[in-house]
Amino acid sequence: MSKSAEKPSSERPAEIGPPPYYHRSDCNICRKQDSLKTGSELLDAPMPGGYVVEGEYFLVEHAPLQSSGAGTVIVEARRHLLDFGEMTPTESAELGSVLHRLVPAVKAATGVQRVYFLALMERAPHFHLWLVPKENEGELRGVDYLAQQPPLTASYSAAEAMSRKIRKQFEQS
Ligand SMILES: [Zn+2]
Repeated sequence: MSKSAEKPSSERPAEIGPPPYYHRSDCNICRKQDSLKTGSELLDAPMPGGYVVEGEYFLVEHAPLQSSGAGTVIVEARRHLLDFGEMTPTESAELGSVLHRLVPAVKAATGVQRVYFLALMERAPHFHLWLVPKENEGELRGVDYLAQQPPLTASYSAAEAMSRKIRKQFEQS
């Protein structure tokens, strides 16, 4: 049974910086960006709708379906770096401008009034920032909303549709 005809994005954009582009073979985010298996079922699953944004220094993709609602996206550095302090001025500028357009795009696509931000880097020491649309239903707020059990989930088709919608909003901004 095939879930979808769409294949995960395998096109690699122009390579940046000196080889191997600061990627580390022991980092699952680096491996995923290089289309290598990570051994994690969550990470090796096909990406619904491909990359939402492909910047020069940052990528945006839909969050894993088993742990997030449709429209939750992750902004990740292309380069293996931990946090804001390790970004070059050019990287910081691109991150600022991506978020400036992406946050309103997530709001418009999902219909939420607020987007939560979460960046922990506990599982992989590679910068990745979750943008979690805060759905307007329910009582949970703040950290309780983010930590709810069972977690919010999304179907492949809902996430794929939302990725496309967010990309469209982003490109129009
Ligand atoms: Zn990495």
